[in-house]
Amino acid sequence: MQFPHHRRMMRTRVLRVERTTDNFVTVTVHGADLAHFEFLGNDQCVRVFFARPGQERLTLPEYDGEGWFPQYKQMPDEVRPYVRNYTMRRFDPDTLELDIEFVAHGDEGPASAWALAACEGQELGLFPECTYYLPPPEADWHLLVGDESAVPALLAILEQAPDDLRARVYLEVPSAADVRPVRTPAGTEVHWLPRQDPHATPGRLALHTVQSSALPEGRPYCWVAGENGLPTGLRRTLVREHGVPKEDISFMGYWREGVAAIA
Ligand SMILES: Cc1cc2nc3c(=O)[nH]c(=O)nc-3n(C[C@H](O)[C@H](O)[C@H](O)COP(=O)(O)OP(=O)(O)OC[C@H]3O[C@@H](n4cnc5c(N)ncnc54)[C@H](O)[C@@H]3O)c2cc1C
Repeated sequence: MQFPHHRRMMRTRVLRVERTTDNFVTVTVHGADLAHFEFLGNDQCVRVFFARPGQERLTLPEYDGEGWFPQYKQMPDEVRPYVRNYTMRRFDPDTLELDIEFVAHGDEGPASAWALAACEGQELGLFPECTYYLPPPEADWHLLVGDESAVPALLAILEQAPDDLRARVYLEVPSAADVRPVRTPAGTEVHWLPRQDPHATPGRLALHTVQSSALPEGRPYCWVAGENGLPTGLRRTLVREHGVPKEDISFMGYWREGVAAIA
């Protein structure tokens, strides 16, 4: 993991909201606080703070150089914001605009519900976190796998990749309508995996597809993220059946089926 050297709590406002594809909503925020933001790129993530329904102004915990969580825990329930992890899909340091792409998975999660109803002018708090995508220079090729929650990270990684990247990329999405054009360096293969069954657990299609695929020769660097069963299951396969050293695998359980995220 790599963290920015300098971090601070940032208050932003929604500038635009766009339905990117059937199951994704892109929210663009801006604000002067973003001038201090140290953008690392690739899959860098951020803590996103949302006001509670009915709250006029977003209350944010302060960052004291050590952390924000102790103060957050002490905030009264009615003003303590919701907080979730998201990827910074795009940052423009000239216009101070930042995009976050939310999977629109319904109203049962506060983040998804917020994105589905987001409108211009609403406040959003951001606290910068780390990147996980740190391939060793000795890797011969990259295996990059994710469900829809990892599509923003994978698209950002591909957009910033060097032209000579050799990679196999698997992107599972809820439906064929979520497939979109993606920058693909010449040595990279991108496989979109739209689910046929709307009730299937996200990530299982990608897991089974990679498990049943022959992988290229040479030393891989593997990055796997999504519903917890995908990274944990694929890591096991890569280590046991392909002899990939554990240190060459970045695996992140972005969320768990049936379990709400906690701060
Ligand atoms: C480092 C990191 C980066 C991430 N980047 C992104 C990103 O760029 N875009 C993105 O959309 N997500 C991303 N996620 C995942 C996101 O944080 C979770 O999906 C989060 O739980 C959503 O919060 P919520 O309030 O909508 O739902 P929660 O309140 O956490 O959960 C409510 C219910 O919804 C279910 N649920 C949660 N997420 C999903 C989902 N994606 N699909 C279907 N059901 C779900 C839960 O299992 C639970 O039953 C990232 C996670 C991490 C750790």
